[in-house]
Amino acid sequence: MSQDELKARRDEKHAERQQRIKKEVDERVAKAQTEQGVFQVITGNGKGKSTSGFGTVARCVGHGMSAAVVQFIKGGWECGERNLLQKVGVPFTFMETGFTWETQNRDSDTAAAQEAWVVAKQYLADESIDLVLLDELTYMITYDYIELGDVLEAIKNRPKMQSVILTGRGAHRELTELADTVSEVRNVKHAFDSGVKAQKGFDF
Ligand code: ATP
Ligand code: MG
Repeated sequence: MSQDELKARRDEKHAERQQRIKKEVDERVAKAQTEQGVFQVITGNGKGKSTSGFGTVARCVGHGMSAAVVQFIKGGWECGERNLLQKVGVPFTFMETGFTWETQNRDSDTAAAQEAWVVAKQYLADESIDLVLLDELTYMITYDYIELGDVLEAIKNRPKMQSVILTGRGAHRELTELADTVSEVRNVKHAFDSGVKAQKGFDF
């Protein structure tokens, strides 16, 4: 077979395959007609959970829609996303005291978590907010600072068109069961393990 014939055959095969894929995708797109807010859980031990949540916040705000963020971790940490989002008027709540990765005091942690949760519940009841990011909420449930049932209830009863993203390692099974979309970020390797310090503008 000549080179030209070989090329023609390869092109034909490629076109056939693409047509098949297009048909399958078109059929699935035609089937997905429901309009509703989505509840997504982003969990797992790999890096990329919060950045994924914030990526969706950027997407939402970029469309002129409204988003709100609650970060269930002490706000003493520098956070590039917070600096940016506060400038463009995105409500952004974090804990004044309490939980960090080296959490110490149960009482003050619980109080701080509850305070942030009160704000989160307000967002989850507010129809004018299209997207709520509950960053690092899983730990509040693991440590028993916030009741799982309370979280499930608030998410179930939110406005129909509101989407919610919840991040953190070790998401409780009932959260992933309730979620419409669950992504688990797997750690393949992390720079930290070879001694690289958390880098500004990349890790925070
Ligand atoms: P990011 O905010 O970068 O998306 P994350 O939300 O997936 O990370 P967290 O568990 O919230 O991860 O961790 C917060 C901090 O720990 C970030 O600075 C992140 O870079 C770092 N980190 C995340 N995963 C790992 C890991 N597997 N090993 C070491 N450090 C990690
Ligand atoms: Mg995170």
